Amino acid sequence: MESSVSLRLHKGLYHGQKDRKRPHLIAKYGMRCFWCGHNLKPETLTIDHYIPLSRGGSNKIKNLRLACNGCNQKRGNAMPEETPEIIAEKSCIRFPSHWSQPKYHFGQLVKQGRIIGIEYQSPGTRRAFDLGKGWIYAVLLDDLGYDTDQLHEPEIKPPSLEQLQAEIEYEKSLAQIHQKNLVVLDEQLSEVVQVSSKQESEQL
Ligand SMILES: [Zn+2]
Repeated sequence: MESSVSLRLHKGLYHGQKDRKRPHLIAKYGMRCFWCGHNLKPETLTIDHYIPLSRGGSNKIKNLRLACNGCNQKRGNAMPEETPEIIAEKSCIRFPSHWSQPKYHFGQLVKQGRIIGIEYQSPGTRRAFDLGKGWIYAVLLDDLGYDTDQLHEPEIKPPSLEQLQAEIEYEKSLAQIHQKNLVVLDEQLSEVVQVSSKQESEQL
């Protein structure tokens, strides 16, 4: 157990180093969360200890990873091998075991559109009386988001082959645009990193 004075000194030292390690980590791993793979924004980026400090991990760069805030918080002090399971468990929406499992999930494409909301109407409630009991899905009927519909599970139909193919093509075109945006952002990032490291060296 470290004394509080040495722990404080140790933490103070670490905060300064963190900013210097960030560009190295971005270069090594990309702007992606090590655990969930989602793209990171500078404001959501956290530096995560692969082996937690409390479990004997170090502040050395080989023990550091980039993670989104959500994954970093969810894993807490878990060891790397326990982490994916803990994150998956904490990311789940829980509901009572006597409710049926919903057949469809958030974001899924169906014949009518895209599922953006799921609501359970518990038997005996006023909403269940008005809307019908069981799972009800809010479906976005158009890509612009002007029109939604509430559909019961049996009303939902799977997407057609053409619909799926068109959706894949559409997503691919978006991915190309995002790829181009990423190149521009990467250039901007390296400029900002250069300026801030220059300022840092001038201050020394
Ligand atoms: Zn993540």
